[in-house]
Amino acid sequence: MQRFEELEQIQPVAVKMLKKMINHNRIAHAYLIHGDPGTKKRAIAETLALRLFCRETETAEPCLQCRDCKRVISGNHPDLHWIKPDGLSIKKEQIEALQREFIYSGVESNRKVYVIEDADLMTVNASNRLLKFLEEPSQETTAILLTKNQQQLLDTIRSRCQMIALRPLSGKAIETALIEDGITKENARIFQAIAPQLEEAKALNQDEWFAEARKLMVQLVGMLIDKPQERCYLLKNIGCNILTIGINCCSV
Ligand SMILES: [Zn+2]
Repeated sequence: MQRFEELEQIQPVAVKMLKKMINHNRIAHAYLIHGDPGTKKRAIAETLALRLFCRETETAEPCLQCRDCKRVISGNHPDLHWIKPDGLSIKKEQIEALQREFIYSGVESNRKVYVIEDADLMTVNASNRLLKFLEEPSQETTAILLTKNQQQLLDTIRSRCQMIALRPLSGKAIETALIEDGITKENARIFQAIAPQLEEAKALNQDEWFAEARKLMVQLVGMLIDKPQERCYLLKNIGCNILTIGINCCSV
């Protein structure tokens, strides 16, 4: 779990906005946090949920030490519900089950929070159920919807949410995430320079064509440095190999 202070380094505008709302005690009934993969949607939702349940803080940060914080961190808070796709979509039954939970008051207090990950994967029926739910907000219920594709959500759902837009990751942040994922520093630097999004950069690591082309390119550069007089011959042969691999790859 990360504190807002840490998340602010990556998403300064979004986190400042949330902290301001918390400090002014203006918590919305529903938030829609949207941004590319890797932009910390889930981490921001976790920290927001922590802060909403934490009873031992007077700042925008959760204390991370109290009973409520510890229960959220361990995934065992009875009044925090986390919905994820069941297979390829979020189904109507999942939203109905959530609604049944909310008929009753919170177990510990009246505060209840639900998070819907990949909210754009809700079926039409699930979206309509959720819309009904959002139309009847209770005072201490907070919905947090997460998505990488907010355009896929119903306009009527979006209009009921406070929108929190996350900015794309910087090249440096992608590089750091790739290294944390076990990719070497050298490759992480190359991947982030080529791919603008984290998922695309990770995919390059799995790409055999890319690995082969990179190997040939390293050979080519090495040979050009060692034998500059043979530049034309080398470019013609190794360069053509790379092109051939590329063409084969594209034609598959
Ligand atoms: Zn706490």
